[in-house]
Amino acid sequence: MNLSDYSSCHLCPRSCGIDRRVSSGFCGCGDTIKAARAALHYWEEPCISGTRGSGTIFFSGCTLKCCFCQNYPISQQGLGKELTIPQLGDVFLSLQDQGAHNINLVTATQYLPSVITALDLVKHKLAIPIVYNCGGYERVEIVRELADYVDIWLPDLKYYDTALSNRYSQAKNYFDHASEAISQMVRQTGAPVLDSDGIMQSGVIIRHMVLPGAREDSIRLLHWIHDNLPKGQYYISLLSQYTPFFRAAKANPGGSEFPEISRRITTFEYEKVLNEAIALGLEQGFMQEKSSAKEEYTPPFDLEGLD
Ligand code: SF4
Repeated sequence: MNLSDYSSCHLCPRSCGIDRRVSSGFCGCGDTIKAARAALHYWEEPCISGTRGSGTIFFSGCTLKCCFCQNYPISQQGLGKELTIPQLGDVFLSLQDQGAHNINLVTATQYLPSVITALDLVKHKLAIPIVYNCGGYERVEIVRELADYVDIWLPDLKYYDTALSNRYSQAKNYFDHASEAISQMVRQTGAPVLDSDGIMQSGVIIRHMVLPGAREDSIRLLHWIHDNLPKGQYYISLLSQYTPFFRAAKANPGGSEFPEISRRITTFEYEKVLNEAIALGLEQGFMQEKSSAKEEYTPPFDLEGLD
């Protein structure tokens, strides 16, 4: 696996194989880093955000492009500012200087050659953990190559059913790749480690957001986790915050392109999933208050921290 340049891109399971120096693949990205925000973020899980915030960098572009993405201006509409590799290294150090508990790389896969080089430039000055915050659609080879760089994995596990992953993220093979990648993340980091203040230092948090009308898919994912991952070696974060943004939103001219998910989830749907998690003993982790399904989870993408 070539993580050193962009000449033939196989960084994610799309495996476009294109030369990113002259073209772009499914993710829409060239070979220059682009990001939309670098700031302290307080809305991750408590062991990630702590009291001082997570030093979060939102990278532009995405390898999944979900139709309901809440970050769609940066993931799919090109919003962002170009950064050189040394500038990205300085952003990491600046976030640390601001008191961040960690460096939180959000959707960084499409820029990995640059991100790794930036980390190499400053790692002797970085004393806080590196968080890899991703959609779960990763190549297991890439996860292995990141073993020396990533302390905390924060992957989504979005879909079990290929029809759902194909319809909402154009990724029929989502579960095959995500399940293999997450299994490797857990093997690589071992059980979660927290410091004396309850701030995570290493480990895996598997995030799952319950989608409208898809609670059976959520339950299948919980069973897969229960049956396949070693107990006590990971946290689960079960999210109720789904809001129909972007192509799923009713407010689009012509209405939602995905009317079946153009609503929030119901308390009944979330509780069915939550109760199954409890019945399976998957209680080590985070359950979201149903009332927290609000838009303030989306930070302003105003290029903060990138000057
Ligand atoms: S990172 Fe982008 S160009 Fe590379 S394989 Fe994935 S989608 Fe294709």
